[in-house]
Amino acid sequence: MGNKKKIIVIGGGVSGMSVGIYAQINGFDSQIIERHSIAGGICTAWFRKKYRFDYSIQWLVGTKEGAFHDTMCETGIIDDSTEIINAEIHNRNVAKDGTDLIIYTNLWKWEKYLLSISRKDWKAISRLCRDIRWASHLRPFDIAPAFRTPLHYFIAFFKCFPSLCMAALHKGQTYTEYIKSLKIKSPELEDKLLNIYGEGNYSAYAFLLIMGWYFRKNAGYPIGGSLGVAERMQKRYESLGGEFIFKKNVEEIIIENNIAKGVRLSDGTIMEADYVVSAADGHNTLYNLLKGKYRSPKLDKVYASWKLFTSMVQVSFGINKDLKTDFNIQVILAEGEKIGSTTLAHNYRILNYNFDPTMAPEGKSCIIIRYDSPFQLWEKMTDEEYKEEKKKIEEDALKILEKHYPGSTEFVEVCDVATPKTTIRYTGAWKGSYEGFIPSPKNVVDQLDQKIPNLDHFYLAGQWLFPGGGIPPSVHSGKWAIQLICRDEGKKFVSK
Ligand SMILES: Cc1cc2nc3c(=O)[nH]c(=O)nc-3n(C[C@H](O)[C@H](O)[C@H](O)COP(=O)(O)OP(=O)(O)OC[C@H]3O[C@@H](n4cnc5c(N)ncnc54)[C@H](O)[C@@H]3O)c2cc1C
Repeated sequence: MGNKKKIIVIGGGVSGMSVGIYAQINGFDSQIIERHSIAGGICTAWFRKKYRFDYSIQWLVGTKEGAFHDTMCETGIIDDSTEIINAEIHNRNVAKDGTDLIIYTNLWKWEKYLLSISRKDWKAISRLCRDIRWASHLRPFDIAPAFRTPLHYFIAFFKCFPSLCMAALHKGQTYTEYIKSLKIKSPELEDKLLNIYGEGNYSAYAFLLIMGWYFRKNAGYPIGGSLGVAERMQKRYESLGGEFIFKKNVEEIIIENNIAKGVRLSDGTIMEADYVVSAADGHNTLYNLLKGKYRSPKLDKVYASWKLFTSMVQVSFGINKDLKTDFNIQVILAEGEKIGSTTLAHNYRILNYNFDPTMAPEGKSCIIIRYDSPFQLWEKMTDEEYKEEKKKIEEDALKILEKHYPGSTEFVEVCDVATPKTTIRYTGAWKGSYEGFIPSPKNVVDQLDQKIPNLDHFYLAGQWLFPGGGIPPSVHSGKWAIQLICRDEGKKFVSK
């Protein structure tokens, strides 16, 4: 250890591991404290019999190029052995009357397909596809905002000009407003497009960016999924000499004279450090671990008014049958229908993981059903009610499975129900919001500061800094935290 400065990282999700990896690369001595028994946080999967049930990744922005890609290579998310696949179809939306809308990742193909639904809307369709192409020119910054000079912004302005135009035009619009502004003549086509998002306030610009990343084939899926990513990051961190401390919960950040000095664990242990980085849930960090002493009017407003992703139930089936499908992700519109005691606000999703052979033994299938279920429903459930609810969910989910894969239920070997309570138990995510804040017209281009006013030697990292969350920005923020610490220490930051 010698004279190395010590950094304590709270949370061993992807952002915490990123902090740890760059800390080790830059000659610090780091420890990651994680309350769960494994690394990965929300980016995880679990095994039941020989099935692996994945909880996170469907797509990763930056699998091909750009600053996110560099960070993924540096942190081990992508290494020489990682196989990336780019699906031809993003998902299929199925309406209540059985009609569907397919979302192709190849924009030329999607344009042709939309025209086949309504040729008279060629103007609106070509505008939609042009907007996606333009939005796809966004290039994330490699360095933290604190280091950006006017020259950085000047270069970015020229590189990202088409995307910035889209941001200027559409950042204040909801997805619904945007689709309506296209003035689509065919009610059928308009309806299908409007139904892509259940959340009426979803940002139009966020939608254009997502489609743009697909179009550039820069948002693929790594075979091995979320657990594969988490395991590669953990391996990279430990191979650099970093130390993971599992099954320990940080209860307080110790502060003296507005300088972070370490942490206190729930078992009373005090761990000292020169710097503390919290990569845990943002709300918990600000209002519990820092005891609400370092709030600011802006942060209070954000946590009081920005809408969260609704918490989610995941029902995972291990099935002793090879269930083929052309659509790995299907969004089934089901407003008003019930699963357990949740009345669906918009849809449920069915994922068939047959594109990833690591999820089920050969000849078998892993099918996952997900639906949004408001946290309030779960908050006050007694243990007895909880058990009953899980049973009912399993029954209802089996009926859904039978409807979409007739004859499959008799081959079910395992059924696993994970609820918002499960998410909170394992990750502490505030109100079970697995991706933090929903990107809306109000916040889509916002980013919260990693430094908290009046508190030194302390930084934030992770998905709560960026509306929309996701692995790439979370991991990026870990890199930025170490860039900031290197600046504080008068050190040159290195990434490899
Ligand atoms: C269904 C689903 C689909 C998703 N799909 C995608 C996708 O396709 N692409 C994508 O990029 N992202 C996706 N995401 C989002 C992505 O997984 C998250 O944004 C990302 O993993 C968040 O990482 P994080 O490290 O910031 O936070 P977390 O994963 O929440 O990590 C925080 C860690 O801190 C630990 N912790 C909390 N409090 C304490 C404490 N007091 N003491 C010690 N440890 C503590 C927690 O246990 C946890 O391990 C998806 C998520 C879900 C659930």
